[in-house]
Amino acid sequence: MQIDPLVFRAKFPESCRPDRCRSRCCRFGVWADVGEKKAIVDNRDLFLPYVRPEAIDPACWFGRTEPDPDCPSGIAVETRVVAGACAFLHPDHGCALQKGAIEAGLHEWKFKPRFCIMFPLVLTEGQLTVDEDMKSLWCMKERNRTHPITEAVRKEVQYLFGQEMAKALTRQPVVR
Ligand code: SF4
Repeated sequence: MQIDPLVFRAKFPESCRPDRCRSRCCRFGVWADVGEKKAIVDNRDLFLPYVRPEAIDPACWFGRTEPDPDCPSGIAVETRVVAGACAFLHPDHGCALQKGAIEAGLHEWKFKPRFCIMFPLVLTEGQLTVDEDMKSLWCMKERNRTHPITEAVRKEVQYLFGQEMAKALTRQPVVR
């Protein structure tokens, strides 16, 4: 996997602040891998207590699929928007997939789609880069972007891609 030099220059807040952003990045749902969908559906009982009443039916959780070479399986599936937000977003505790895993004593990100974990980093055509499209989010406004993104998301990168990749983030890119 290549790292876009932009990743080394870009800034982000010191950490996510759901109290400031009110999880606006979750309003539109996300593209997950079909393997992630299977794990979520197979473990649906973990999440049912934490979804909103209008998203209680697992049949409404996922929508269309499409080929995506950046997904491990090669096929992406959308999480559906239900009543104005991702089916898994709950205003009281955020992502039901994260909340359900924590309450079950599992890693907080065990069932969370990788694209949610890595935001605002994104994998595009095999390159790790920064998703600069959602400028209206609190974390993407210039005045709030005070820290190197490589520090802010190091833990997430290590979880998803391993220690070597996390170390690579702290190295300076080769200038050609
Ligand atoms: S799966 Fe969870 S983190 Fe991802 S968009 Fe939905 S509510 Fe947000």
